Amino acid sequence: MGIRRRAMLGRMLAALAALPLQAAGISGPSAREGGDDVVALGDTWVHLVDSVGSREGPTYLSLHENEQTAVAAARQVAERHGGRLMELRAQRKRLVTFMLAGTHYAFDPNRIFTSGGIARTLRRYGPYSPNAHAAVGQLAAAILARAAGRADAPLVAVHNNTAGDLSIASYRPGGTLHSEAAQVATSPARDPDDFFLVTESHVFERLRALSFNVALQSPTATDDGSLSVYCQGRLPYVNVEARFGHFAEQVRMLEAVHAALRVKG
Ligand SMILES: [Zn+2]
Repeated sequence: MGIRRRAMLGRMLAALAALPLQAAGISGPSAREGGDDVVALGDTWVHLVDSVGSREGPTYLSLHENEQTAVAAARQVAERHGGRLMELRAQRKRLVTFMLAGTHYAFDPNRIFTSGGIARTLRRYGPYSPNAHAAVGQLAAAILARAAGRADAPLVAVHNNTAGDLSIASYRPGGTLHSEAAQVATSPARDPDDFFLVTESHVFERLRALSFNVALQSPTATDDGSLSVYCQGRLPYVNVEARFGHFAEQVRMLEAVHAALRVKG
């Protein structure tokens, strides 16, 4: 079930990237077409696409395909300041669904970076089977292999949330995620829905100094299978969360990250 990359599928196939690979006469669980990785989960093809491809600067990563404010903001910052924008593209929704051996499965693509996380997210949204687990694990491996290509390149995940849901208040005393944070800084000047989750204290300090809302993830954060937990202690990680539609603020946040990560304290 390993990732097979076909480096030379040709320009014609790149033009057909939006079509199922079967239509182009290609079979197998995964492939590389043009510069994209394509992973098959049963009958669903998941594309990993670099829509901005600068090799300098951070890797911006969009895992929730419905969160297009984040994608637009990351695209603008990557084009303006350098960086790579990597997008998961499947069904234009938060959850990815697939049919495998006659059974319908669903999962959250930001809960698949540990084995326990894969099992929990499959069970949360539907049935579970070892074969479905293996297929989702193959996608997680492909994302990590593609996103974490350079040890010195920070990984910047971009997300959007809705009012009244996840916010910096979730990490405050009494919040549902309070035990997941080692430190929390809040700014009355900012919307609580617009905040950073980071794994390194020097990044936390720099973003706090700029009066942003920021949570420093606890080294003992619960394993929920999210990318932030996977990255803890492995590679520099920043999650840039903004409310849907807060495009200008998410651009400001991404530019602050760009500056903070360039000069390490
Ligand atoms: Zn998200």
